[in-house]
Amino acid sequence: MALYDEETNMLSLPFFSDQKDKMVSIPSGKSLTDYVIRTQKSLLANRKDKAKLEELGEIRRIGSDSKIWLGVPLKIENEVIGVLVVQSYTDENAFNKSDMKMLEFISEQVSISINKKKVEEGMISALEKATESDRLKTAFLQNISHEIRTPMNGIMGFTGLLKDTTLSGKEQQSYLDVILTSGHRMLNTLNDLMDMSMLETGQVKMNISTININDELSILYSFFKLEVEKKGMLINFETALPNNEVVIKTDREKLFAILTNLIKNAIKYSHKGNINFGYVLKGYFLEFFVEDTGIGIPKDRLKAIFDRFVQADIEDIKVYEGSGLGLSISKAYIELIGGEVWVESIEGKGSKFYFTIPYNPEPIPMEFDETEITEIKSSFQQKHLKILIAEDEEIAFDYLHIVLENSGTELINAKNGAEAVDVMRKNPDIDLILMDIRMPIMDGYEATHKIRSFNKDVVIIAQTAYALAGDKEKALNAGCNDYISKPINRTKLLELINKYYK
Ligand code: ADP
Repeated sequence: MALYDEETNMLSLPFFSDQKDKMVSIPSGKSLTDYVIRTQKSLLANRKDKAKLEELGEIRRIGSDSKIWLGVPLKIENEVIGVLVVQSYTDENAFNKSDMKMLEFISEQVSISINKKKVEEGMISALEKATESDRLKTAFLQNISHEIRTPMNGIMGFTGLLKDTTLSGKEQQSYLDVILTSGHRMLNTLNDLMDMSMLETGQVKMNISTININDELSILYSFFKLEVEKKGMLINFETALPNNEVVIKTDREKLFAILTNLIKNAIKYSHKGNINFGYVLKGYFLEFFVEDTGIGIPKDRLKAIFDRFVQADIEDIKVYEGSGLGLSISKAYIELIGGEVWVESIEGKGSKFYFTIPYNPEPIPMEFDETEITEIKSSFQQKHLKILIAEDEEIAFDYLHIVLENSGTELINAKNGAEAVDVMRKNPDIDLILMDIRMPIMDGYEATHKIRSFNKDVVIIAQTAYALAGDKEKALNAGCNDYISKPINRTKLLELINKYYK
């Protein structure tokens, strides 16, 4: 008897009796047994029939070759689950069509028995699962009950004490503090429970807005700084990208909740050292981290801490307060946003939680809108500015051309510093020079210096390629009025020119 396992694509042989071969399981492939499974029909085949099937490419022989082979499918609800086979190595006439009919009848009875057994096994495993989840739920409820009862005890106990009229003002204050802290703790648990049940019932929706990640980290830092310092620890955050590259679309509330929760845990489970958080860019994702030098997490619990219910099942939980829901809520949020979460930790040394969110930067927001740009341009119109663009790169020149077109300005191009000096000598009416610093033959500093020797009035704006402080100073020293760093932002440029020609 061969039973087919779809998952492993193997044929197992729960009952096998053969004079020649000994097998326990065989990979499903092109055996006669597979042929019966494929065709879902009984097969009676002598050597000639088998040779024909082999020729047709339908089967490949495994095991010893029999003189006659008879196989009938085992079916449960019209699905073939295996094959019942008999064969003879000595007598070609050992089985005939009527034996096939008989075997089909037997196979039906066998199938019914197998089905019964399967249903029974399924019920046992379902029962085990139900008992397990019941056990976890009980543990979870016990923990939640503990999480509500403990602060409740605080509130009731200290409210009772407050009734005592002989208390000093200081004592009253300290009792009130206990009540307030307990109230907060209870509220946290209730909030966690609410979030969890909203997640379970699929009521949590995404709420997308545009946010600046660096700003959010800075808010979190200010928020937790005092609490961390009170514990005698330090907190730091790291931003990997400049402000204009971290304006992204995401669910702010959820991101904030995730980070808050991870930082809160880092504080809760650490007693010394520092807490670091931040992010790095990894391809199309921002990878956040929250790192602490706390108690760490045992290896065998690294996975379980993200599961709901399971955490509450851990026995030493009572040492640290908490509902044990924070991480499973965070994990669910992270997955909703489209990322994943994991942790690296060494017991006694500390933990580092990581999670990702998709990185989809917004184009840098314009400081000016189109109408303002048009306004600036039209204010240029009456001035008829004559502008010399000293720029060796064609693309950069074309860009400036596009930015300044329709503004009534006349544009002249010089391809290097020497040419710029020359053009300036021949056109003393030029109002402004956009001077590239890095140019062949003569660079922008030298050209500016030379021009200043005969023209003090023309406004020279240096285009510095790198936002290096040295570059700017050198440009100003050479005689430039101002500088703008490349890549040139068109609104900034128009604003700058406007400053000199109001
Ligand atoms: P809670 O903190 O309320 O118990 P969480 O779901 O936030 O629940 O965390 C689950 C468990 O993971 C915690 O009980 C704790 O054992 C472990 N854990 C979480 N964060 C840290 C951390 N930074 N350092 C050590 N253990 C942690």
